[in-house]
Amino acid sequence: MESLLAAKDLVKSYGEYRALRGVSLELRAGQMAAVMGPSGCGKSSLLLILGLLQSPDSGAYSAQGQDLLRLDHARQALFRRQFFGFILQSCAVFSYSTVEENVEFPLIYAGVPRRERLRRVAELLDSVNLLEKAHAWSNQLSGGEQQRVAIARALVNRPKVLLADEPTGQLDSDNTEKVMAHFRKISEELSLGILIVTHDPFVAEYCDLTYRLHDGRIAAER
Ligand code: ADP
Ligand code: MG
Repeated sequence: MESLLAAKDLVKSYGEYRALRGVSLELRAGQMAAVMGPSGCGKSSLLLILGLLQSPDSGAYSAQGQDLLRLDHARQALFRRQFFGFILQSCAVFSYSTVEENVEFPLIYAGVPRRERLRRVAELLDSVNLLEKAHAWSNQLSGGEQQRVAIARALVNRPKVLLADEPTGQLDSDNTEKVMAHFRKISEELSLGILIVTHDPFVAEYCDLTYRLHDGRIAAER
């Protein structure tokens, strides 16, 4: 399968602390990869760098034949919006919006007409079993339901790569299983690449390979 992104020798320090000391990884179309490692080892930093939300100190990073680190800010932002879907650890749902509005927001930014927006939002909410909660206020949902809203929102723009930071961290095993099955389905149907930071061995097991991050370095395991 086609290579979606390739990072080589990424280095990132925060002051004296060297979070990433030469990390290389690749993600292919239709592939699901897990990133595991102890708390504080740099998993989220790596995800932010791959999503062009943070710059590495050095290294190379390319996707679809483009050298992403050489793009200017505006081009990086455009690429980010068209290429990536994000489920970030720190950014859950917008509390004072309905479930439907939460999933609709990215489509408003992308300039999609309202009829098409509502159609796609309904399709995504259905896929995460939240259609009946479309008009509920997001702050009235359980943690697991909010996580599913975040998943729907990340996918509504039809990204090529989904970057997910512990997307099942608040789900019970039943919902984790459902979300992973959904990820697998869309990954196959849309040739979507999915990178999932997780502590859950079940989630890693579900993926095609696991990248293990330790002491700022990474190793791939099948
Ligand atoms: P993980 O997601 O694996 O738990 P992080 O990538 O969030 O780890 O963080 C790795 C290390 O880098 C941690 O020690 C964290 O405190 C530090 N760190 C992360 N982001 C910053 C930042 N913006 N400024 C300073 N230190 C940071
Ligand atoms: Mg983290």
